[in-house]
Amino acid sequence: MPFTLRGDDVCQVTPPTPLPDPYWVAFSPSVAKLIGLELGDNDLPKDPGWLAVLAGNQLHVGTQTFSNPISTVYSGHQFGSWAGQLGDGRAILLGDINQLELQLKGAGRTHYSRMGDGRAVLRSSIREFLCSEAMHALGIPTSRALALVGSKQSVRRETMETAAVCSRVAPSFIRIGHFEHFASLQNVTRLQELADLLMNEFYPECASKKDSYLELFKEISARNAKLVAAWQAVGFCHGVLNSDNISALGLTIDYGPFGFLDHFEIDHICNHSDHGGRYAYHRQPQIMHWNMACLASAMLPLLELEHSAEDSQELLRSALEEFPLTYAKEWQRTFRLKLGLQSEQDDDIQLIERLLQSMHDSKVDFTNFFRSLSNIKKDSKPLAIPQRNEFIDRESIDQWFTDYINRLQSELISDDDRKDLMNRVNPKYILRNHLAQVAIEKAQQDDFSEVDTLFKILSKPFDEQPTFDSYSKPPALDMQRIEVSCSS
Ligand code: AMP
Ligand code: MG
Repeated sequence: MPFTLRGDDVCQVTPPTPLPDPYWVAFSPSVAKLIGLELGDNDLPKDPGWLAVLAGNQLHVGTQTFSNPISTVYSGHQFGSWAGQLGDGRAILLGDINQLELQLKGAGRTHYSRMGDGRAVLRSSIREFLCSEAMHALGIPTSRALALVGSKQSVRRETMETAAVCSRVAPSFIRIGHFEHFASLQNVTRLQELADLLMNEFYPECASKKDSYLELFKEISARNAKLVAAWQAVGFCHGVLNSDNISALGLTIDYGPFGFLDHFEIDHICNHSDHGGRYAYHRQPQIMHWNMACLASAMLPLLELEHSAEDSQELLRSALEEFPLTYAKEWQRTFRLKLGLQSEQDDDIQLIERLLQSMHDSKVDFTNFFRSLSNIKKDSKPLAIPQRNEFIDRESIDQWFTDYINRLQSELISDDDRKDLMNRVNPKYILRNHLAQVAIEKAQQDDFSEVDTLFKILSKPFDEQPTFDSYSKPPALDMQRIEVSCSS
C-alpha cells in the first residue's frame, strides 16, 4: 500500500547510498513471487538489474522505477522512556510493488540517522533475513525478507565488520511510533491522516463503524495481543519491544537481538543489552499491553474529535482492558492445540501451567518437548514415557503425564489424527541462535551455503526432514550462551 502521506514533517526523499560491488547472500523466491518478480532457473531474478536495485545502487529495473524513495519520521518509547524523534535511520522505502512496500534496510544514512551510519552488518542482516522467513513459515505475522545483498564495504561496530542490505517487504511498515510522533507534536491533522490511511487500507471494517478510531485502536491492539500469544507459543523473544518497533498491522518487525528459547526458562532475556530484563520472555505480553497504552494515549486526540476529553479517556481505557483478555484467550487456544486438545475443559489451563513450571524447573528444551508430545498415546503408561527422564522432579512429571493421558482419553480424536494436528502446530525446526551463528561465521568467510541450508530447512519447520535432524537438536553447552545485543 503506498505510504501516501507527504511533506517534510512526515518523510524525506532519500536515495539509497550505493553499496560497492554487491553480491547475493540470500534470496527468497516466495517473496519474489509475492511481488511479481520473474525468476530465472537459479531462482534469482531473471533481470540482473535487481541486484543493483536491492543493493541500493539504482532505482530502476526493467519497467519498474522507484522514483520516490523515502525515509519516514516516527518517535517512540525505548526501554520504557520517551526517546523523542527517531525515524527510519537506516531503512529506505523504495516504493510499492504489487501493493506491498519494499524497504531497504542498511542502505545508508537518512535524514533520521542521528549518530548512526545508516548501515547494517552482515551478521544482523542474516539473522533478520532468516528469521523473517522462518516466522512466516511458522504461520506468524511478520514482515518478509526478499533478499540479502552483501559487500566488502566495512562498517565499524565493536569490531570492523562488513555491510549488507536486507530488503524487506510488508503491506505497511507503519508503527506505533508514527502515531506517537504526531501526538507528541499535537498535530491532530497528521494523526488523522495516518489513522485514515491505515483504516481505509487495512481495517476497512472499522471505517464503516461508529467510533471508527476507537474500533481501529481495538483492532490494532487485538492483532498485537494475538501476535504475542503466537510468539509465546513458539518460544520467540523479540528482544527490543520499544514502541517504535511495534507494527500497526500486528506484524513482527525489526528483528534485532531476538532469540528462540532453547530450554524453557520463563524469564529468559535474549538481548544482552537488556540488563533489567524488561523484554524477557514472560514479560512480552505485559510489555505489548504497555505499548498499546502508548498507542491509546497517542490516539486520544482522535477520539476527542467526537467525545469529551473525559469520555475519550474512558473509552480508550476500557478498550485497553480488552488486551489481556484477547491475549489470554489466544494463548489458551494455542497452548491447547500444542497439547493436542481439541475440546475445552476448565482444568486445561492448570494442566498447561503445571507443565510449563516443570519444564522451567528442569530446563527442558521447549521446541523438542512439545514436538515429542505427539508420540504419547491414550494408552501410554506414564512411567514408560521416555520424556520423563528429562525432568528432575519425576514424581510431579509422572503425575502430570497421568493427568495428561486421562485428558487425552476424554477426546474423541484418534492418536494418529492428533499426532498429525500437533505436528502442524509444534515445529521441529526453529532458528536457534547457535544455528544462526554457524551460518554467520561461514558467511563472514564468504561461504553462504549454510545460510541457504538454514533458509530451506526453516521454510518447512513442521516437516520431519530426517536428513536435517541434527538441526533440531539443542545447542551444545559451549553454544548455549551466544550473546546478542542491539549493536547491529
Ligand atoms: P532499532 O533498535 O534497531 O529499532 O533502532 C532504533 C532507532 O535507531 C531507529 O530509529 C533506527 O533507524 C536507528 N538506527 C539503528 N541503527 C542505526 C544505524 N546504524 N544508522 C542509523 N540509524 C540507526
Ligand atoms: Mg527499529
